[in-house]
Amino acid sequence: METKILEVQDLNKENLKAAMEKSDDIAQAKIDASLEKVDEAAEIIKNGGLVAFPTETVYGLGANALDEKAVGKVYSAKGRPSDNPMIVHIARASDIGQLTPMLSSKIIKLVDSFWPGPLTLVLKKKDNVPNVTTGGLDTVAVRMPDDPIALELIRKSGYPIAAPSANISGRPSPTKASHVIADLDGKIDAVLVGGDCRVGIESTVLDLTVDTPTILRPGIITSEDIQAVIGGKVQMDPALILNRPRDESEPAKAPGMKYTHYAPKAQMTVIEGERGNVKKEIERLKALNERIGLKVGVILFEEKDFVVAAHEFFARLRQLDDENVDLILAGALSDQNEVGFAVMNRMLKSAGYNIARV
Ligand code: AMP
Ligand code: MG
Repeated sequence: METKILEVQDLNKENLKAAMEKSDDIAQAKIDASLEKVDEAAEIIKNGGLVAFPTETVYGLGANALDEKAVGKVYSAKGRPSDNPMIVHIARASDIGQLTPMLSSKIIKLVDSFWPGPLTLVLKKKDNVPNVTTGGLDTVAVRMPDDPIALELIRKSGYPIAAPSANISGRPSPTKASHVIADLDGKIDAVLVGGDCRVGIESTVLDLTVDTPTILRPGIITSEDIQAVIGGKVQMDPALILNRPRDESEPAKAPGMKYTHYAPKAQMTVIEGERGNVKKEIERLKALNERIGLKVGVILFEEKDFVVAAHEFFARLRQLDDENVDLILAGALSDQNEVGFAVMNRMLKSAGYNIARV
């Protein structure tokens, strides 16, 4: 199949403001052209096709969440295991009622505070949400993304859009349109080519179907942020606290937890320990491996720039793959900070939990 490349302007607030001030006709024309491309993409979704689109977290691969056949195509295009459920994206908070019978003051407070934004809520599902969308679970994960193109696409298609990350299953998540094209060109109907994703790691996933709200996937919205809004206790799923390979005898609560994830082509090792030692060890291992002719890539973020690390991590993995490095040496970040913890969650998975302590 030929994948349509639909270029769109990043419709951020500045662009919109410029266009609204009628003086800027060029900006207005660009926005009109973008909206036409979104119309085209929405038609594809309506007709049961697949469209990749930008969100503030990572690029998503979207299909009509209520159309079993369309959702089935997402699994095959990505090579995603069919029991790994998808997040359903909506454009208006009030549309949550189409997907779940749950409505509580907690949900309303969270939606009010964090939507549109990178927080996904796991809720009891209504019968109209097909089992393929939820990987056979009786719960549904819902989020309203904070990206004007994504919101416009959902609104115009008229359906909630099921969208996992727009990568081949197991590869690093896509934070640029070029990553999507590298993985899915020829396998999906269209890509809305917008700007780079602002956040760079996937949304925080919060399970509200249990007594104590539980984070199943850490992200830039932290347990503290959530606690400040709903009070009470918010816990990390114990499988995350270990931040180590899962014990296979335990069932995974977020089915995504049990699969190999984010893996670069190169062999990867995470170096953990006191910062100075980590830097020295990376230098030592780099020199050692280069001496025997290996190409070595290094990922070492400033220790306190957790948000920057989140923004850049996946793109850096893909860049090193493009440079054909044989080995990636990555410096661990402090997991005491919850955004650092969220990045470490991805870093350890992408290294297949191959860790050297110094
Ligand atoms: P992705 O779209 O690739 O970011 O993956 C979506 C993530 O959300 C996966 O880790 C899923 O396991 C998780 N998820 C989606 N729906 C549910 C659900 N109903 N219950 C628990 N986790 C979910
Ligand atoms: Mg994914």
